[in-house]
Amino acid sequence: MNPPVLDRLDPRALADKSLSGAPLTRDEARAVLAWPDEDVLSLLNAAHRVRVAHFGRRVKLNYLVNLQSGLCAEDCSYCTQSKISKAPVEKYRMMSAQEVMDLADRAVASGAARLCLVASMRGPSERDIAGLEKTVRAVKEKHPTLEICASLGLLKDGQAERLADSGVDAYNHNLNTSERHYGEICHTHTHQDRVDTVGRAKSGGLSPCSGALFGMGETPEDILDVAYRLREMKVDSIPVNFLIPVAGTPMANRNDVTPTAALKILCLFRFLCPDSELRVAGGRELHLRSLQPLGLFVANSIFVGDYLTTKGQAAQADRDMIRDLGFEIQGDTASAEASGASPADRVEMVTRATRQ
Ligand code: SF4
Repeated sequence: MNPPVLDRLDPRALADKSLSGAPLTRDEARAVLAWPDEDVLSLLNAAHRVRVAHFGRRVKLNYLVNLQSGLCAEDCSYCTQSKISKAPVEKYRMMSAQEVMDLADRAVASGAARLCLVASMRGPSERDIAGLEKTVRAVKEKHPTLEICASLGLLKDGQAERLADSGVDAYNHNLNTSERHYGEICHTHTHQDRVDTVGRAKSGGLSPCSGALFGMGETPEDILDVAYRLREMKVDSIPVNFLIPVAGTPMANRNDVTPTAALKILCLFRFLCPDSELRVAGGRELHLRSLQPLGLFVANSIFVGDYLTTKGQAAQADRDMIRDLGFEIQGDTASAEASGASPADRVEMVTRATRQ
C-alpha cells in the first residue's frame, strides 16, 4: 500500500526549510511528488526562491562529447550503447585529441562553461587514461577556463587522481535510480559499484557529478531514495535525466513522465540539494515539451546541443530561451578568452562565477 501523502503543505515553508540547510522530511518530499498539477506554479515559485538564493539568474551550459560510442559491454537496459541494445547508433573507438579539440572549440563558441567527455565503457583501461591525460592537457592549454568533466564508467583506485592531475575538473557517474530498482535495469554491475566510483572521484580530487534517470518504471519511493542518497553523498552537480525511449532498447515503449511530473521531480531535487548545480539533462525537450522554460526556474544548468546518441534542441534555441526568461549564461568562456584576461585571471573568473 502506498504511504499517505500530506496535504495542506505551505510551499513557502518547504523553501524556508531548504534554505536553512535542513532536509525535507520523507512525508514532505512525498507530498512534493504528489503535488496537484493545477497548483504546480506555487511549488515552482518556492523552488525558484531556493534557486535564486544559490545561483541567482545564471544558467550554466554544458557541451557533451561522445568520446567512444556504441561499444559498451554492460547491459543497462535504458542505454542505446549497451551490449543488449539493437538501436542503430554509431560505433567508434576513442576519438583522437584533434577531434576532441575541434569539439572543445565548438563548445566554447556555443557559450558552454563545461565540456563533458563521455565514453561508453565499463571503465577506463590504462591506455584510455593515458590518452585522455594528453588530450585534456592540450584542451586546457588552449581553453584554460573551460571546465572538463570526464565520464568513463567505473573507476579503479588511482585513476581519479591521474585525471585530476591532467586537468580534469569533475567526474560524472550517475546513480540513475534507487538501490532497490537498480537490479531491474542492469545486471552487469551494482548500485554500490556506482556509489563507490563517485566516492573514488571525490577522494581523488574531482568534483563529483552524479544524477538520476526517470521514466524507467520506478515508484515515487524509488525517486525519493535516489534523491536522498545524492543529498547524503554531497555531490556538486546533479544531472536529472528523463528517459528517451529508443527503438532497439528494452525500454523502447516506455513513456511514463508527464511535463508536470518532470517539474515536480526537479523541485524535489532543488529542495533536497539546494546548493548543488541542478541540470535538466537528457529528455528535457521530449518530456518537458512546451514547459521547458519553467524547468529553468528550478534548475540552473542544461546541456546545449545534442545528447550522446539522440538529437537535442538547436543551441540558438536554448540561448533564445535563456534570454527570453531574463536569465544569463554563466561563465561564457568565449567572452572570457576574448577579453584578453590572463589564463590565471580567467580561471579565477569562472571559479568566482561558480561560487556566487
Ligand atoms: S555503462 Fe554506460 S555506456 Fe555502458 S551500457 Fe551502461 S549506461 Fe550505457
